[in-house]
Amino acid sequence: MKTDVHWFRRDLRISDNTALHAAWYGSDRLVPFFCWDDAILKAPDVGPARVAFLLRSLESLARNLESLGHRLIVRHGRPEEELVRLCRETGAKEVHTNRDYEPYARERDLRVHTALEVEGVLLKSHRDSVIREERDLLSKTGGVYTVFTPYSRAWRALPVPAPLPRIGGPRTALPADWVSLPLPSDTEALGHPLRQELFPAGERSARQALDTFVEHRVFDYETARNHPADDTGTSRLSAHLRFGTVNIRTVLERLSSARAKATTPAQVKGADVWLSELVWREFYIQILANHPHVARGAFRPEYDALQWSGKDAWFDAWVAGQTGYPIVDAAMRCLAKTGWMHNRLRMIVAMFLTKDLLVSWQRGERHFMRALVDGDLAANNGGWQWSAGCGTDAAPYFRIFNPVSQGEKFDPEGTFVRRWVPELRDVPADRIHAPWESPLLPSRSGYPPPIVDHDVQRRRCLDMFQAVKGKPKAAEKEEETE
Ligand SMILES: Cc1cc2nc3c(=O)[nH]c(=O)nc-3n(C[C@H](O)[C@H](O)[C@H](O)COP(=O)(O)OP(=O)(O)OC[C@H]3O[C@@H](n4cnc5c(N)ncnc54)[C@H](O)[C@@H]3O)c2cc1C
Repeated sequence: MKTDVHWFRRDLRISDNTALHAAWYGSDRLVPFFCWDDAILKAPDVGPARVAFLLRSLESLARNLESLGHRLIVRHGRPEEELVRLCRETGAKEVHTNRDYEPYARERDLRVHTALEVEGVLLKSHRDSVIREERDLLSKTGGVYTVFTPYSRAWRALPVPAPLPRIGGPRTALPADWVSLPLPSDTEALGHPLRQELFPAGERSARQALDTFVEHRVFDYETARNHPADDTGTSRLSAHLRFGTVNIRTVLERLSSARAKATTPAQVKGADVWLSELVWREFYIQILANHPHVARGAFRPEYDALQWSGKDAWFDAWVAGQTGYPIVDAAMRCLAKTGWMHNRLRMIVAMFLTKDLLVSWQRGERHFMRALVDGDLAANNGGWQWSAGCGTDAAPYFRIFNPVSQGEKFDPEGTFVRRWVPELRDVPADRIHAPWESPLLPSRSGYPPPIVDHDVQRRRCLDMFQAVKGKPKAAEKEEETE
């Protein structure tokens, strides 16, 4: 009897799962396997929101497997040791898994491959979480893309594979005495007491989020995506894509059938702009895979010399949502409470931390990784480097958002700010983003005055960059509010 293991990592689903399907299809007995890895659980950039999402998704995965007659085997330890043990116990000669492109995952998989090889077991890794891997798209000169627009053009020129069917039931059931650890009832047992709200997790939630978004909102995505008070203006699929409770092939198939029903150019545009965001996800994954130094420093290494002079107290005020800039504080309080933040707000707070508070983007990056439910090295690193102006983006470092005008533009009524900063409830809309100008903000409100002056800090930021880069060649812009 041929026994194959499927090792789950960032693919916590039974549908449209390449390696799981291969292991199920090609064997007489499937051993679905998950391993708690302390190197991940104890890493400084892992936090409770993500661990909770993982745990809830695993519960859902275990239930879904059970409903088909399979049994998820869970162990805790070093994956290379646990997999060797499991293969000896089960007699498996093949372990299937879906590729993960992060530096830690690559090293781990190499260790696992070597350990299994000694046992005569083959580790078969599959492409699954992306449509295009890091060397699939090459420029005319044979290099990998480092600029998004040509990458995106090349990405779109090739076909997208169709989703795979869900696996079927077991051909042979697993013996009842094969040990599996029970899943812990909460994240505290995993070293991460939960302080945030629970984000909907698991394969079914992912499908619901996808269906709701493509059926009701994708057509107006181009404009709706910039308004953080609009809870359904974006898909909220990021954590699902991060943990693989839905696959990108399924997402793209749903998008393509929605786009086919568009009746106006604006609707087509909405669908295309959303596709572009999904391509950004793959762009940053290939940047990390091809340029792993970004995990340790700036994509353009000359920016590692920047002298960040921001005070620790400023960083603390930013984390606590107490900077005196309402849109920044509302966003940071939302992050602390829910583990999620709207993309427009991520850009605003990241730019504020780096360019107003002059705190290194890497401190912000680490805080986000710990706090976000969708914390993903590639996307987070790309977003921070973009905001700080040291990444792949051709946009100049002197693009500096003004937090007041960003608030006025993207939260014009102050709806989002009032939701998260109750101290500002009574401030009228025309002053909500600069409440220090409002006579209606009594000092007893407890809301702090701005901790820095934007204009002064903007000048200091330009000086900091110019000390490394020299004067900008193009005419210096006041700011950009894209
Ligand atoms: C400073 C900063 C940090 C970020 N950190 C993360 C992170 O840790 N994890 C993460 O998934 N995204 C991150 N992003 C990207 C983006 O903010 C989130 O993907 C998005 O807000 C998630 O909401 P959504 O699922 O509703 O997105 P939608 O607008 O519905 O987009 C659909 C999907 O496309 C992908 N996507 C969208 N925008 C981007 C982008 N700019 N870069 C890469 N992928 C994108 C996501 O998978 C997202 O779920 C970050 C952006 C910035 C500026």
